[in-house]
Amino acid sequence: MIPSSFDYASPKTLSEAVSLLASRGEGAKVIAGGQSLIPLLKLRLASPDLLVDISRIPGLNHIETSGEFLKIGALTRMTEVEASELIRKWYPIVHDASVLIGDPLVRNLGTLGGNISHGDPNNDMPAVMLALGAEFIATGPAGERAIRARDFFTDTFTVSLSHDEILTEIHVPMCTPRSAGCYLKLEQKVADFATAGVAVQVRMGRGGECEEVGVGLTAVGPTAIEARKAEDWLRGRKPSDKLAVQEFASLAAEESRPVTDIRGTAAYKRQVVGLLAARALRKACERVRGA
Ligand SMILES: Cc1cc2nc3c(=O)[nH]c(=O)nc-3n(C[C@H](O)[C@H](O)[C@H](O)COP(=O)(O)OP(=O)(O)OC[C@H]3O[C@@H](n4cnc5c(N)ncnc54)[C@H](O)[C@@H]3O)c2cc1C
Repeated sequence: MIPSSFDYASPKTLSEAVSLLASRGEGAKVIAGGQSLIPLLKLRLASPDLLVDISRIPGLNHIETSGEFLKIGALTRMTEVEASELIRKWYPIVHDASVLIGDPLVRNLGTLGGNISHGDPNNDMPAVMLALGAEFIATGPAGERAIRARDFFTDTFTVSLSHDEILTEIHVPMCTPRSAGCYLKLEQKVADFATAGVAVQVRMGRGGECEEVGVGLTAVGPTAIEARKAEDWLRGRKPSDKLAVQEFASLAAEESRPVTDIRGTAAYKRQVVGLLAARALRKACERVRGA
């Protein structure tokens, strides 16, 4: 199908982009890599009056550590996330997800900011960001504000950005030498969206107990889900204990809210969440030991 007609603007600065969004109200929409939005336009599931193309705004494409955070510019493309040595070494959970997103064509254009802002529960990065306890910097007419990942994904395709705000940077708490994570996803075929996905990030204490745990679930609810009961239960426990891993995995499965669709029944997906949670936890712990 052909999209309905719209105006197009390609601002060169962030403030120009924000002013354009503010001036056109709900009718204006940000476009970055277009990998999620263009299909929606073609199907006329979205019909904005104005597309504000932020892809030429400088200063929004970087991966760096600063202060207490790994800071990733919202326009950083998935291929750049995938190629980053810093991410591969210190945030393998982000690397895991980056290589599983679509195919190389999608990853060449799709941005991290777009993957998160789209609010699609089937996208992989939201669960990873929940597990990492990330926060997102939004820039709007009143300046910047930080939004925690756990407050960001409010409903399917709905996030807590207002219509005149742009996600500009992703802040991930700095990893310590005793922390690591893992993201696992079951897909029906290569480059597909997840049947279910699980992100687990742990920080281990010297005695082998989990000091901090983050768990995010993909494609098993109306939004990406933070499995807080599983997190709370594992905190202070040793993942070397088989029963502890089993209990953790079944709590994560219980917290999922899948529906039956072309990718499987709700019961099947819940079972997959349990299996992936146990495997991701084991892999995360292995990585801590390897580090
Ligand atoms: C064939 C195919 C396969 C795919 N497979 C996967 C997959 O396996 N896993 C996965 O996670 N994703 C997958 N996707 C989805 C896609 O990769 C991501 O959603 C993509 O990263 C979106 O980024 P973008 O820059 O292209 O966003 P766009 O399409 O430009 O925008 C998406 C939405 O986010 C908003 N937006 C974008 N950037 C910002 C910003 N900085 N601030 C505020 N709002 C913003 C837009 O207004 C729009 O609503 C696939 C897409 C395709 C076409």
